[in-house]
Amino acid sequence: MLRLPFFTYLQPRTLAEALAMKADAGPDGAYVAGGTDLYPNMKRRHQEPRTVVSLMAIPELAGSGKREAGSVLGTGLTLTKVASDPWMREHYSAIARAAELVSTPLLRNMGTLGGNLCLDTRCNYYNQSYEWRKAIDFCMKKDGAICWVAPSSPRCWAVSSSDVAPVMVAIGAEYRLVGPGGERMVPAGRFYANDGIDYLTKQPDEILLEVRLPAPNGWDAVYHKLRRRGSFDFPVLGVAAWVQWDGGRVADARIVLGGVASWPQEVPEAGAALRGTRLENDAVAACAEAAYRPSKPMDNTDFDLSWRKQMTRVWVRRAVEELSQRATTVARFT
Ligand SMILES: Cc1cc2nc3c(=O)[nH]c(=O)nc-3n(C[C@H](O)[C@H](O)[C@H](O)COP(=O)(O)OP(=O)(O)OC[C@H]3O[C@@H](n4cnc5c(N)ncnc54)[C@H](O)[C@@H]3O)c2cc1C
Ligand code: SF4
Repeated sequence: MLRLPFFTYLQPRTLAEALAMKADAGPDGAYVAGGTDLYPNMKRRHQEPRTVVSLMAIPELAGSGKREAGSVLGTGLTLTKVASDPWMREHYSAIARAAELVSTPLLRNMGTLGGNLCLDTRCNYYNQSYEWRKAIDFCMKKDGAICWVAPSSPRCWAVSSSDVAPVMVAIGAEYRLVGPGGERMVPAGRFYANDGIDYLTKQPDEILLEVRLPAPNGWDAVYHKLRRRGSFDFPVLGVAAWVQWDGGRVADARIVLGGVASWPQEVPEAGAALRGTRLENDAVAACAEAAYRPSKPMDNTDFDLSWRKQMTRVWVRRAVEELSQRATTVARFT
């Protein structure tokens, strides 16, 4: 049985306390929210903090609100709350759907939005016990020097495996960060980096406080997920598709892939293929083809990588077709 190492657990009641505790702990400190990713990682010695600072008693992370310019979600909201909130289901159904597709009900009851958006990248050579990793002399992401997926590569290719992050990038959400130096807003797309080790652009002491969602004014988005077991698994491919409607035509569009790179990967050519169209069949096919080309899954998650690449075309097509059907339904019944 894997056991947690000994560590000091702190539960600050305010943001200022949390920042001070993390600063005191230095590089040996880590924030925790629901702990559904950090604690398993600590058991496998991926992360070895001596001090763990909980964010769960800080009121600013727990709330949500509706504003004229959109909605605000506290990052301490559990995935269950995000997925079941009637407002979210009506106006931000892609986010609710992505949250609903994460893991199992028990983990969604504990796991938070913030933890999901800051989720560690994953790899078959990394998400293993300490002894397993030691037997292969570890790898570059933790304790070792080589990448077993691409041995001549200078970088780590561990995979972004968050279900909700691709949706946030696709819809153009913004993240509010608070750190020792003050506050800043970052577009979701700039919060992530295509590097399996340094996969977030945030500073280690910064807290992801809230997510600002654009007002639901004529855009629509969907999320589709490919995985082996529908009840449980991480995505091996996620597709977030967003369109801004102008009358019956697409004024703007974004396609973002999860599970194929170290960050949620936007494919600008795929979005461009939809602009100015009514999502006719040939536009959908051109979009799917454009998304397929740069989709380059590596051999470090479930399923055969060439099949996963092929599935990009199919999953993107299905996602955009769903957007098209939803537009038809809305037009027919309003
Ligand atoms: C069996 C299993 C299956 C899973 N399946 C999926 C899946 O299908 N899809 C998926 O997306 N995830 C999956 N997960 C991962 C995880 O459960 C979820 O992503 C969950 O939302 C993580 O949230 P958390 O609050 O538990 O994060 P934590 O474990 O508390 O934190 C995760 C990371 O984020 C940091 N962090 C958390 N909150 C903040 C914040 N507000 N500011 C700054 N840093 C922060 C922590 O320091 C840590 O590094 C799975 C996990 C398990 C164990
Ligand atoms: S991609 Fe390479 S360096 Fe990164 S976790 Fe996997 S084996 Fe390790």
